[in-house]
Amino acid sequence: TGAFLKAMEAARGLNAYVLETPEQALAMAKASDEKLARGQGGALEGLPLGIKDLYATKGVRTTAGSNILCNFVPAYESTVTSQLWRDGAVMLGKLNNDEFAMGSSNETSAFGPVSSPWRREGSNAALVPGGSSGGSSSAVAARLCLGATATDTGGSIRQPAAFTGTVGIKPTYGRCSRWGIVAFASSLDQAGPIARTVRDNAILLRSMAGHDPKDTTSVDIAVPDYEAAVGRSIKGMKIGIPKEYRVDGMPAEIEALWGKGAEWLKAAGAELVDVSLPHTKYALPAYYIVAPAEASSNLARYDGVRYGLRVPGKDIQEMYEKTRAAGFGKEVRRRIMIGAYVLSAGYYDAYYVKAQKIRTLIKRDFEEVYAQGVHAILTPATPSAAFGIGEKGGADPVEMYLNDVFTVTVNMAGLPGIAVPAGLSSEGLPLGLQLIGRPFDEETLFSVAEVIE
Ligand code: GLN
Repeated sequence: TGAFLKAMEAARGLNAYVLETPEQALAMAKASDEKLARGQGGALEGLPLGIKDLYATKGVRTTAGSNILCNFVPAYESTVTSQLWRDGAVMLGKLNNDEFAMGSSNETSAFGPVSSPWRREGSNAALVPGGSSGGSSSAVAARLCLGATATDTGGSIRQPAAFTGTVGIKPTYGRCSRWGIVAFASSLDQAGPIARTVRDNAILLRSMAGHDPKDTTSVDIAVPDYEAAVGRSIKGMKIGIPKEYRVDGMPAEIEALWGKGAEWLKAAGAELVDVSLPHTKYALPAYYIVAPAEASSNLARYDGVRYGLRVPGKDIQEMYEKTRAAGFGKEVRRRIMIGAYVLSAGYYDAYYVKAQKIRTLIKRDFEEVYAQGVHAILTPATPSAAFGIGEKGGADPVEMYLNDVFTVTVNMAGLPGIAVPAGLSSEGLPLGLQLIGRPFDEETLFSVAEVIE
């Protein structure tokens, strides 16, 4: 813990942490040492972790990367983090993220952008660590924690992991409790870890997962020993290669990496099968209706009365308006406006209801593939390697949204997905592959991802 605190201090330039909690960390580490000396201790005893600032931590400021929560200190602990502390983990601090987890580059945070520790060959220009869990991916890649919590609504665990050469899993919707995690789009949000290896992911997920009566969408089924799945043979498994993921303009090196990944799985005894997910092309536009719709509803609670920031006005209406104008950044305001629009009378059927129907079709596509005996699906994780800070999405937000083209389908269908490093780009940057699994079958993902890693 002491070594990580020192490394964090030396790497403040990355802006990965929005809050360091050294006193708490050292006290937790000491308690762990004492437990271990008595021959006790949990599965994560003494392991120092970073916590995405979307997870409520009791008595420790929790901002969701937003000005509107700049002074919010929760009186409660999220279920997932309380399970990590139950198992002995140590909290190093709170990690930066896109404001309310809306973004793919960690550039929408009110606390400023995060840099990746990676650089293009022969260049010193700062690169994004992906988003929205950019503090988590950067901190893990720069060894500023052993592992980190993250959240994934449309790719925010997998895309940052792919950009930083780390591993991240979004478990099946319902696998982890969302209680105490700041809500973005409740029907898509899931918690999960980012860590250096597949095995570390498996160990962390086991502690994070589990039924919680406080989240009625969390599912009451046993959490397997995920670590036991790491290294298990994949001989005879059927791996689907979906033709719709061969998108227009896909860089040759991404396509080549995908092919290599398939070869490695074949060499390990898996059978490759061509599959079709015909509604894939509608996933991104439908996601960017469903997610803002839910966000506009979830973010209605930040009104200057109940949480965080309050900017006074002459009456309550003016106070609401001033608080929300000062508290929310540009991307969050854009999402609230889109969401309110697609939910409004007259447009609801044309946009929101239609997007929900598309969601059902996407889910069915996967069900049909899995009904053919396919165990997991292999795709690229992202359409490119990491880009520079300030390089994308300035004039056209859709340019940024396109980053999520391979990841959003998984959230729309509620399935588990893992991103695993698979090689380097021509510029020497990490590239990841994604494996998509059957509902509640994270174990297969760990077994298959281990072969690629
Ligand atoms: N990049 C996507 C978005 O901005 C996904 C974010 C996420 O998964 N939290 O909505």
